[in-house]
Amino acid sequence: MMPRSHLSPSISCVIPAFNEASNLGTVLPQILATLSILSQRVELVVVDDGSRDDTTQVMQALCAVHPEILYIKLSRNFGKEPALTAGIDAARGEVVVLMDADGQHPVSLLPEMFKKWQQGSDVVYAVRKTRDDQSGLQSSLTGLFYKMVNFGNRVKIPANAGDFRLMDRMVVDALKSLPERNRFMKGLYAWVGFNSTAIDYQPLPRADGKSNFGLRGSLSLALTGILAFSIAPLRALTATGLVLSALALGYGAWVVGDYFISGIAVPGYATIVVGMMFFSGIQLLSIGVLAEYVGRIYEEVKQRPPYLISQRTGSGLAEPLYAP
Ligand code: UDP
Ligand code: MG
Repeated sequence: MMPRSHLSPSISCVIPAFNEASNLGTVLPQILATLSILSQRVELVVVDDGSRDDTTQVMQALCAVHPEILYIKLSRNFGKEPALTAGIDAARGEVVVLMDADGQHPVSLLPEMFKKWQQGSDVVYAVRKTRDDQSGLQSSLTGLFYKMVNFGNRVKIPANAGDFRLMDRMVVDALKSLPERNRFMKGLYAWVGFNSTAIDYQPLPRADGKSNFGLRGSLSLALTGILAFSIAPLRALTATGLVLSALALGYGAWVVGDYFISGIAVPGYATIVVGMMFFSGIQLLSIGVLAEYVGRIYEEVKQRPPYLISQRTGSGLAEPLYAP
């Protein structure tokens, strides 16, 4: 790794925010103060993901006080992944940090992350040590998710690494070059690769409000992740088909053999009904799995942009060394 301690890069911090009006006023100045110690050229790219509270007013006021803030309002609620994408697209710093707007990502970690970048890491990602906020069911499902998505995959998505990370411009440009619309960021970070370093952290409690990702939201994100980064479900179908065919062949051979040996045709009513129900179940399930993939393909070919911007306030970095 090439050390970069002689460089003093500009830093962008991308912050997706959905209904975080009560948190932004305290969280943004904290982040700004910490980053200003690390660099003279700092910007905060706050992406308002179609908030329905008074985020816009709060941000207008903050923009008036802090010229380092670039406020981007999306035309509706697109979800955290598209919001992050919007922020990454707008960020102009040579180093880009992603943070939540609810104060759960401790700013005290930023100097350590920056130091790792100076030592040559292209990506520094924070790994949650514990997840007290998750129920037992949720954490076993999370474990299962990482097993499934990483099964037989060349690219492994590190467990419990979230979006809290610092990236070199090179990595950001690599992310921006990926054309897919269905953006499962955790997968994309892993896919682009580069020198990555993990650091442990303890997430803080949410400053105000409650999490947007319940069991349902997490399940849907997990499904997106699995479908976007693994063809294991398709392989599982093929394997199931093979096993069932082999079983059916064996059973057929046994029926025929039994007829010749004992001379009785096997009474087959129950077997037929159970067999039919079982196989139609498997077939419907297989079609369902295929449909999930076809649906994602449909989303991709429509070529719709992942987000739309309705408002831009502030300028962020005044003179970026890096021009997008
Ligand atoms: N978020 C967003 N759009 C959404 C949901 C969430 O931009 O549709 C933002 C949210 O404002 C916060 C971050 O994503 O800054 C993480 O969300 P949250 O705290 O609800 O999730 P958790 O911390 O429980 O994973
Ligand atoms: Mg949170």
